[in-house]
Amino acid sequence: MATPYTSILLFGPPGIGKGTQGKMLGAIPGFFHLATGDMFRSLDKESEIGMEFARYSSKGLLVPDFLTVRLWRQHVEQLIKRELYNPEVDVLLLDGIPRSVPQAESMKEYIDPCMIVHLVCEDLSKMVRRMQKRATEQGRPDDADESVIRKRFEVYSGQTAPVLACYDKSIISDIDALGTQAEVLLRVLSAILPHLNA
Ligand code: AMP
Repeated sequence: MATPYTSILLFGPPGIGKGTQGKMLGAIPGFFHLATGDMFRSLDKESEIGMEFARYSSKGLLVPDFLTVRLWRQHVEQLIKRELYNPEVDVLLLDGIPRSVPQAESMKEYIDPCMIVHLVCEDLSKMVRRMQKRATEQGRPDDADESVIRKRFEVYSGQTAPVLACYDKSIISDIDALGTQAEVLLRVLSAILPHLNA
């Protein structure tokens, strides 16, 4: 199997639009979008691991690193087996992983990040409103409650933001996440393309 997988990390705080951008980019041939939040939400809610996920996500906390990376690896292997993702030709768009320094460390042997799309936004309140709207539209209990949202931001600054320091600055692009989906997509694509042709 072709590891490490050539990857682009979609990085940024909750509600910034990683999923929205990831889905649009994933529709372009040659990119495969993998969101760990979606991976967790697709688990059988009654299963041991599904219940474990609900225990953490309902509090705005990260699922333990060991469990997350193990599940992510199994998930990727399945995607390859089912011929949905082909590491020989597709760039893996990782959305929501690695989300802690230990995850970044243990994923080193599996991924080769050619670029990190770091979505940034000065206006936190906009993101909170986006998350609350999404909670009602998608039935996400983790984003319905304001105290859980606050916890998710705390976890982002304490555990996820330090992940950026694990990678070379030259592959990190800060991209303004404010604007229409098309405007942000244009910025993201303009930032990505030179790294793919490098
Ligand atoms: P998201 O859809 O990316 O906002 O993720 C929803 C929830 O899934 C998070 O709040 C975590 O509980 C869990 N989750 C997603 N990705 C990870 C990860 N890489 N590590 C640990 N927990 C995660």
